[in-house]
Amino acid sequence: MPKKKKYTSWRCKDCEIDYFVTSAVTHTTHCPQCGDNLFTESIKVVWLERPFNYKRPWSEEEREIIESGLHLGKTYREISQELDGRTENAVRRQIQQLRSKGMLSI
Ligand SMILES: [Zn+2]
Repeated sequence: MPKKKKYTSWRCKDCEIDYFVTSAVTHTTHCPQCGDNLFTESIKVVWLERPFNYKRPWSEEEREIIESGLHLGKTYREISQELDGRTENAVRRQIQQLRSKGMLSI
């Protein structure tokens, strides 16, 4: 069994996403989605085996999977199942982000 470690859950109020950072970091963190630290705030300490979404930026491959999935009429859930470790909600937020940046053709 992997041992659980102490992490702090942070929220980016701008992107409305939660992410986990080792609790050794207490002052400021950068949002894994927008890279900013202006709207981040620590929420609570949690014990996790691993920080499942800590600073994992979305890759170009993932963007292509999302885009082709949308073209095929797949649901957010179906697209999230093709992406390792991404939840349906994460896919929904990422699609909003990509659209707002004009990075999706659909
Ligand atoms: Zn953000």
